[in-house]
Amino acid sequence: MKHMEEMISAYIDDELTDAERRLVETHINKCKECKKLVEDLSMMKNQVFTTYQSIEIPDNMEQYFLSSIEQKTQRGKNKIPWPIVIGSVILIILAVLCLSPLATFGVGLISLLFTIMMRLLQVASTFMAVVPSLFIGVIGFAVLLLLISVLSLRRLFLTKAIE
Ligand SMILES: [Zn+2]
Repeated sequence: MKHMEEMISAYIDDELTDAERRLVETHINKCKECKKLVEDLSMMKNQVFTTYQSIEIPDNMEQYFLSSIEQKTQRGKNKIPWPIVIGSVILIILAVLCLSPLATFGVGLISLLFTIMMRLLQVASTFMAVVPSLFIGVIGFAVLLLLISVLSLRRLFLTKAIE
């Protein structure tokens, strides 16, 4: 037969057979020491359970981990930090445009475009953290918008130069 302390521990964990269970129950009705042990152990178990339950695990935890792993894998594949690259390209283009003598009248437009670009980059970085494929779409859109702006700026400059 198992030692009574061992039996009580198993009793608390609900790991006893019906016969063993009855044996423990009969014993703790007669032995104050063991009754106290049962009470202490079950209180401890309850506390652990309550503590465990009080730790909130978000429902989308698994998804969050999966997406962050995916993100890291993707980052590992292409080590170029795209928001920085595209941001630099935009800055260089804007700097060249601003420095050209024809640019003065276009400054307002350029600063507006710059703001839009920065906002797009901000959104893009946020999306990158959530959905990598969406991020690629946003970058594609930003590049398209950039091309359109550069083309329309050129047209504007050329028109003004002719006048
Ligand atoms: Zn006892």
